[in-house]
Amino acid sequence: MRIDVITAVPQIITPVLQTSILKKAQERGVIEIVVHNLHDYGLGKYRQIDDVPFGGGAGMVIRCEPVFACIEQLRAERQYDEIIYMTPDGERLTQGIAQELSLKRNLIILAGHYKGIDQRIRDALVTREISIGDYVLSGGELPALVLIDAIVRLLPGALGDAESALTDSFQAGLLDPPIYTRPAEFRGMKVPEVLLSGDHRAIEAWRLEQAIKKTAERRPDLLEETEPKQWQQD
Ligand code: SAH
Repeated sequence: MRIDVITAVPQIITPVLQTSILKKAQERGVIEIVVHNLHDYGLGKYRQIDDVPFGGGAGMVIRCEPVFACIEQLRAERQYDEIIYMTPDGERLTQGIAQELSLKRNLIILAGHYKGIDQRIRDALVTREISIGDYVLSGGELPALVLIDAIVRLLPGALGDAESALTDSFQAGLLDPPIYTRPAEFRGMKVPEVLLSGDHRAIEAWRLEQAIKKTAERRPDLLEETEPKQWQQD
């Protein structure tokens, strides 16, 4: 899989891609991520990428020319399944969307900045608009990283054997049960006995029960959406 990220601020994105699981996934060849600096496609001597909004108002707007130039160049090189614009008025990111996108071959993710981007980019190029939640950030870089991380950790081989995406919250329509590590007792607080029992069936049953309990308490809406037969923890 390949993801091309287009941004006016690659400095936010690049260091995160060179860290931890995202770095390892690239080294293992699970994913290729290429970051494009919008200023490389900017206009004139000052590599201008934005301008004041027609009709007035606060904030700068990313212009059409650099975004069209960058995306048209990429599209001349390969076919893209989706051209995604990160925006607070897009569809809300869910584990299901991350899963769906993790099955694609080539994605472009466009991070906006300032006041946003010229509407004609959205009308003519963008195929999907995704929000990471009902709040407004100053740029699309963090949202793009959130989306990339959610996708990449689902790709086969991205996580080592020690970490498993399949048992995470939302994956089976349930939140994760509580987890513990050594020591078995810390400042008088004990790990639930069953986890120390070595009885794998009892442990699985406990985990499922805890997951259902936590989901019922915190996110009853998830229980309504899920068939009980999907509840498989491991
Ligand atoms: N004026 C716009 C907000 C612009 S914020 C509006 O009210 O809709 C600047 C950029 O940050 C946007 O172009 C977008 O790429 C990004 N952004 C901000 N909040 C976001 C969110 N919740 N999800 C995804 N992208 C977001």
